Amino acid sequence: MEYWNPYLETLPGEELERIEIDYFRKILSFAKEHSVLYREKLRDVGPGDIRGMEDIRKIPFTEKSELRRYQEMDPYPYGGVLGGKIEEVTSFRQTSGTTGKPVYVPETYESWQWRIEAWCHILYMAGFRPRHRIFLPFVYNVYVAFWEGHYASEKVGCELIPGGGLDTKGRIHKILEVKANGMMNTPTYGLHIAEEAKNMGIDPASLGIERMLCAGEPMPSATRRKLEEIYHCPVYDHIGGTEPCAWAGMCEAKDGMHLIEPFFLVEILDRETLSKEVGEGEIGVAVVTPLGRRSFPLIRFNTKDLVIKGSATCSCGRTSQKIREVVGRTDDLRKIRGVLFSPKTVEEVLRKDFREVEEFEIIVERRGLMDVVSLRAEVNPQLPVGSIEQVKNRLQESLKIATNLSFHVLMEPPGSLPRYMLKAQRFKDMREDGKK
Ligand SMILES: [Zn+2]
Repeated sequence: MEYWNPYLETLPGEELERIEIDYFRKILSFAKEHSVLYREKLRDVGPGDIRGMEDIRKIPFTEKSELRRYQEMDPYPYGGVLGGKIEEVTSFRQTSGTTGKPVYVPETYESWQWRIEAWCHILYMAGFRPRHRIFLPFVYNVYVAFWEGHYASEKVGCELIPGGGLDTKGRIHKILEVKANGMMNTPTYGLHIAEEAKNMGIDPASLGIERMLCAGEPMPSATRRKLEEIYHCPVYDHIGGTEPCAWAGMCEAKDGMHLIEPFFLVEILDRETLSKEVGEGEIGVAVVTPLGRRSFPLIRFNTKDLVIKGSATCSCGRTSQKIREVVGRTDDLRKIRGVLFSPKTVEEVLRKDFREVEEFEIIVERRGLMDVVSLRAEVNPQLPVGSIEQVKNRLQESLKIATNLSFHVLMEPPGSLPRYMLKAQRFKDMREDGKK
């Protein structure tokens, strides 16, 4: 069994923890000196106060809302979360902004290289080697995930084919033309490519993909196995985000995901109090501190990812802690056809522009391989029957613009939908794995 970094990947657990606590002190000290957010937030804590994990647990979390707030100040557009000088920033990335204003993420050359090095662990762990010619079927834009994949595969020594700017058919032709034997994609798009290939009379297994790494959305193991069956190749998963970077990945044993240690200090904390580490097999919230990324320092970032803690041993020989499974998010966000969706957005559209809609319900179902999202809109009794069709069309249009999803809109008669007194349940995800 080969490792990307044989030394770090086989260090005993206690040694990894010792290094992580030491790095934690260093990044804390750096953050306090260079970023306004932490200078203000951690005024009363110094690196000397950190003797062990119990001291780290006393430090407040960093929440996404704080990042947004501190980005309001200078220098534009990173504000008080920037660690260092604006002149040192060499690339701009941002979050999708589905849950609110996007967070702008500065990377200096040094920080970007740190991030790529962490990603190399993920790629190498998933068995990618210089013999692989990896097809990346996306336009990367300002979003970070596939840029990381791109640069990390170069560093590992693979050959990377950027497959943006083509439609799915074009991508399939390109895969065949260049004889790509690896692929990185979202699970949804992996299934879509397979469907499209079948429509073209091509068996997806004959595309020659020997290895696949998925990103971008939670992948239930059933989907992973389905992709493996369709493409006749092993499929791997990883977890990360724009702010905390990619912090865990699946090795060839495919038995959970390894934390990328000691690049990240990952705490998996009980959901109720967020104050103690959960035990193996228990669900917890992942709180992540990237330990070497200075352009955008994050101390105890609350990822809101719910995961099941796994064991610290693996047949691959790596010694890092594992997570057994990603369960979902602590809030109500869903991925629908690869698009991050918040029911709140629909409510906003309706409340703002559709007074004629009294009540509504959103239903997500899986029909075949596709997610179908429907809106049941109950109309006001005053609405003339003749205008119902017009409202329906306007709804479809506005929802498409607001969510980037095509809704199936059903206009319902007055009084047909349930009313809620307290916590409304207007969002129904009927997909078996919808909450994963
Ligand atoms: Zn392993």
